[in-house]
Amino acid sequence: MFFGDYHIHTPRCGDAQGSYDEYIEEALRKGLSEIGFSGHCPQYFLPLEERGRESAIPEEELTLYVREVESLQEKYRSSITIRLGLEVDFVPGKEEELQSIVDFYSWDYLLLSVHYLGTWPFDNPQYLSGYRERDINEIYETYYQTLIAGMKTGFFSAVAHFDLPKKFGFRPAGEVKGEIEALQVCREQNLVIELNTAGRRKPVREFYPAAPILAQAQKLSLNVCLGSDAHRPEEVGEDFREALALLCRLGFDHIAGWEKGIAVLHPIS
Ligand code: ZN
Ligand code: FE
Ligand code: FE
Repeated sequence: MFFGDYHIHTPRCGDAQGSYDEYIEEALRKGLSEIGFSGHCPQYFLPLEERGRESAIPEEELTLYVREVESLQEKYRSSITIRLGLEVDFVPGKEEELQSIVDFYSWDYLLLSVHYLGTWPFDNPQYLSGYRERDINEIYETYYQTLIAGMKTGFFSAVAHFDLPKKFGFRPAGEVKGEIEALQVCREQNLVIELNTAGRRKPVREFYPAAPILAQAQKLSLNVCLGSDAHRPEEVGEDFREALALLCRLGFDHIAGWEKGIAVLHPIS
């Protein structure tokens, strides 16, 4: 059966531990048939002097990242397929700068992520106070509007951690404005939605997105891919059996992967 993890960080992202080989060996141990490295993209949206390497691949190392993964594709050719992608922050108004990252290489896939609302890195535990200074429903609403703008750029293959504002357990009250619209735009733009298992390791203790959102996605005939968001080798493929079981239960019969920007659908058996 096909088993692919498309959200794996690398030693080039300052916030991930372990070597490339350790991530790949873990994938082999867990019986994955395919993996994709999705390093955090360079911080193109910040002024040059503020760009860091704590949670991003520095611009000047992007070529190295590409070369390293290419040589691993060769090294592991007979045991596992390795795809090359990026987890890309979307920041409204910086589309031109973003274009140069998109065009930098013929990526197998690009994950769309929103980690910033304005200048607030809302998924960074060091900035938790931001949740207390704002209305929770407004946070979600702004988040989905930003996500939708990112989807509409046409740059991306999949939407990562769809309901990320829930990470620390701050839940909106009632219906969330923009949530359904975001799923519809996903459909219109032919984007895959990621079932990201990392939420299990966070205070919210559940997958991204939550099961009811996945059920809606299924109704809209969206395709899903799997991602562990591994920042340590042992996290590769984490909770994937449960994730697949959930997808089956919800009526999904395929999961997506990519080769050079083209989505490939694999049956879930
Ligand atoms: Zn990271
Ligand atoms: Fe992320
Ligand atoms: Fe990530």
